[in-house]
This record gives sequence, structure tokens and C-alpha cells, in this order.
Amino acid sequence: MPPSNAGLPGAPRLPVAGWGRYPRGTAEVWRPEKLSELRAALAAAAKPVLARGLGRAYGDAALNDGGSLLDLTRLNRMLAFDPQSASLRCEAGVTFAEVLETFVPRGFFPPVTPGTKFVTLGGALAADIHGKNHHRDSSISKHVVGFDLMGPEGEIKRCSREENSDLFWATLGGMGLTGVIVELELKLKHIESAYLEYESLALPDIDRVLEIFADYDRRYEYSVAWVDCAAGTKKLGRSIAMFANFASADRLRRQITDRPLILEARRPLKIPFDLPQFALNPRTIRAFNALYYFLHRRGTRDSLVDLERFFYPLDRLGNWNRLYGRRGFAQYQCVVPLAEGRAGLIELLEELKRSGIASGLAVLKQFGPQQGMLSFPIPGYTLAMDFAVQDGLGELMERFDRVVLKYGGRVYFAKDAFARAETVCQMYPNLEQWRAIKLSADPRRIFSSRLSRRLAIDPGAGER
Ligand SMILES: Cc1cc2nc3c(=O)[nH]c(=O)nc-3n(C[C@H](O)[C@H](O)[C@H](O)COP(=O)(O)OP(=O)(O)OC[C@H]3O[C@@H](n4cnc5c(N)ncnc54)[C@H](O)[C@@H]3O)c2cc1C
Repeated sequence: MPPSNAGLPGAPRLPVAGWGRYPRGTAEVWRPEKLSELRAALAAAAKPVLARGLGRAYGDAALNDGGSLLDLTRLNRMLAFDPQSASLRCEAGVTFAEVLETFVPRGFFPPVTPGTKFVTLGGALAADIHGKNHHRDSSISKHVVGFDLMGPEGEIKRCSREENSDLFWATLGGMGLTGVIVELELKLKHIESAYLEYESLALPDIDRVLEIFADYDRRYEYSVAWVDCAAGTKKLGRSIAMFANFASADRLRRQITDRPLILEARRPLKIPFDLPQFALNPRTIRAFNALYYFLHRRGTRDSLVDLERFFYPLDRLGNWNRLYGRRGFAQYQCVVPLAEGRAGLIELLEELKRSGIASGLAVLKQFGPQQGMLSFPIPGYTLAMDFAVQDGLGELMERFDRVVLKYGGRVYFAKDAFARAETVCQMYPNLEQWRAIKLSADPRRIFSSRLSRRLAIDPGAGER
């Protein structure tokens, strides 16, 4: 990590990538520690400029070739917490890992969490992230009380549902393109224990999966399905579905521990080198998936699992993105509306089968209601599939996009590296309205990213 350098005449030009390590680029990286340094960096930075958190967006959302990145990870102070309202005020560089460490022992948990705790709250708001509880609790924007946004001249605007509400809704899901979130207020949720009551089921095909989601989502706060994309045509969409609710302190005391909110720290394992490209090929992936399904075929009922295992299983393997080899990997995450969900999912899985390309990991979730201008979720089913970058992947993603578009769905900016501008503007009907708000907040259009230029989200930005 580069040292803090705001206030210096320049910033180092560094190689940068997202979590998928595809694509890669370089940018001038500023790493301020104070608001005054951030303001100075913004003034001195090469334009276009963009905020960056922990770089967990998969593709090019946090890349800015030819411009500057404002790394917010040193602006990570917790400022206030009110246990009555469960309201946390903090700087945008605070991570989910830090929130967990501080607040789980006190009986609080983020209202919505991604599948890794190594994400900043600023990055979470910018992508308006969703979790396994979207069907109940929507995305993180629903739980944001307000935030302070630094504009292009270093000025700060307070944004909430009442104050600058257009900018509030354009920034949540706006992928850093309206300014820099510097401080925010978020409502946490109360928990009695750091464990969840957990149930899993092996489901033979997509019809059964959707049936079970419809039923179990009423009973469970958290749900997700691991999908075996390599299964044969008759087993299309076969899955292991997982459901959970936070357990009460009483249940914990009876069964496991008298310190229900305390978890032992675990050290993540590290992958020491990039796995060779041939290690993850369609054959090994098919074998791994069949084994995983077999091992989980009996399902589990009424068991207890700690929150780290349930929410962040991948974090146990430090830099698992190296498993996909040197060329990197990409995730295709889309959502198809509820009514068309079954047909859309089947078509996507069939398209994948025809391509001969294998997905190393695929998960399915159900989304509920959603507010927001560029927020990704809509009520429907979201499928996320990981792929090693390889020949033919771009064409496959284009075919996926055509299916998703046909069914009225969309792709997720935080994961994307391949979509085209023509497709995306049809997927996000509020784009024009968003552009008008962006233009009034950033008239010189200095906030721009490699993703926003590739997808012409904000045409003309970053072209000087
Ligand atoms: C293993 C894994 C699992 C994931 N699971 C989920 C999931 O379940 N649900 C989900 O929704 N996402 C998920 N994600 C994606 C991740 O939550 C988002 O990409 C998130 O935006 C990453 O935050 P970050 O701090 O790493 O930001 P970065 O990746 O650095 O930046 C992401 C975007 O946020 C903007 N940004 C960052 N900080 C600020 C700021 N302070 N002000 C303004 N803009 C800012 C950047 O400009 C960029 O556009 C997952 C990612 C990984 C690697």
C-alpha cells in the first residue's frame, strides 16, 4: 500500500485492478488521511478522478486509467454510535470487517452485507449493495440515514431523504460518479448472538429451487443457493439452497457457549501463487460440482453456524482470486424479473451449456422491492457466475446480455467488465434522469471511471 501522499506535489502512478484482476490499468493513486488532505488531493489530482475503497468491485468500476484514484481506506474513523437507534456515524473508508469487530460483541450487525467483509462502507453505498436478505430488507440504501458527499470543488453536501434527496438517490448505486462519500450514517441491526440457525436442502432442478425460494423466503431472513451449472440437461439448475435466521442468545447458551456474541478470530489461509490456467477447466469444475452436490445431498436441519462461515465463507481463503490464474476472472451477475424468472434462468443456463465454458462458482438469490435510480436489484432472481478469463468469454457474456435484455433484466455494474453501452442503457431506464442530476452535481464531469466510459454511463466525462 502506498503511504499517505496528499499534500505532496504528485502521487505515484500505480498498477490497479478490481477483484477479478481483469481488466488491469494504472492510475495516479492518492491516499489522504484527513478531509483537508482529500480536498487538497482532489484539487491537485489529474482529471478524471474517482473514489476507490478496497477494490472489491470485480471489473473496472474502481479503475481510472489516465486519471487519479482517491483511495479512501485511511479515512476510516468511527465517529459516533447511538445504541438506542443503532445508528453508526463513520467515515467512508470504514470496512465491514471493522464494523463486525467493533459491533458484533455489542450485539449489532450490518443491516445488509456483501459476501466478503473486505468492502468499505463508501464502496457499499456507491454500489448500493445487496445481501442474502434482499427479499426482506432490500439493499443497503434502505438503511442509510444520510451521508456527506464531497463535490468537484471540495465542497461538502449533506444528502438524505430530506436534504438534496435527488443527489442522495443518484449517489446510492451511482458508482462514485457523483462525488466522494466522505462520511455516512447507517442503521445497524440488533442481534442476540453471532450464530445463525441454518437449514440446507439439495434441490434436483430449477423448478424445485424456485418453489422452495417462494416458500422458505417467508420463513427465513437469509437465503442463497449454490447452483451446479455443470449438471446435465435434466438436472438443469440443481442446487444446494441455504437458509438462515440469527439465533437467539438462549439457544446459544443451551447448546454452545455462554458468550453468544463472541467469535474466535481465525487467520485466513493464503494462496501463494496463481493457479495454472488448466487447473480450472470444464472437467475439473464438473467433477468438483458433482462432489459438492453429493456431499451436501442430505441437507442439514436445525443446525447452528457462526456468522463468519455463513456470510463470508470465501474470506477464509485470503486471495482466492488467484485460483483463476494469471489472466484473471470475471463475474457475470444479472437479475431477471420474477414473472419471467424461470424462463430467463433456464435460457441463461442453456446458453452456458452450449458455450462449453464452465463457471467455477454460481449462486442464485431472490430479490424483493427496491428503490433507487441506478441500483441494480429489481424484484426477481439474481444469478452470479464466475469465469476464468478465456477466449470466447466476451461472446458468451454478450449472449447472456441478449437473454437478460429480452426478459427485462439487467447486469450489475459492480461485477461487470464486458457489457456494452447500447445494452446497458436499455437495462437502466432511469439513466437519463440520473445523468441530469450528475451534471448539476459535477458540471465539469471530473468524476469518471473506466467502467463509466466503457458503458457511456455519463457520455463526455473524462474525455479531456
Ligand atoms: C467475494 C465478493 C463478494 C461480493 N458479494 C457481494 C454481494 O453479495 N452483494 C453485492 O452487492 N456486492 C458484492 N460484492 C461486490 C462489492 O460489494 C462491491 O463491489 C463494493 O462496491 C466494493 O466496495 P469497495 O470498498 O471494495 O469499493 P471499490 O471496489 O474500490 O469501488 C467500487 C465502486 O465504489 C466507488 N466508491 C468506493 N468508495 C467510494 C466513496 N467513498 N465515495 C464514492 N464512491 C466510492 C468506486 O468509485 C467504485 O465505483 C462482492 C465482492 C466480492 C469480492
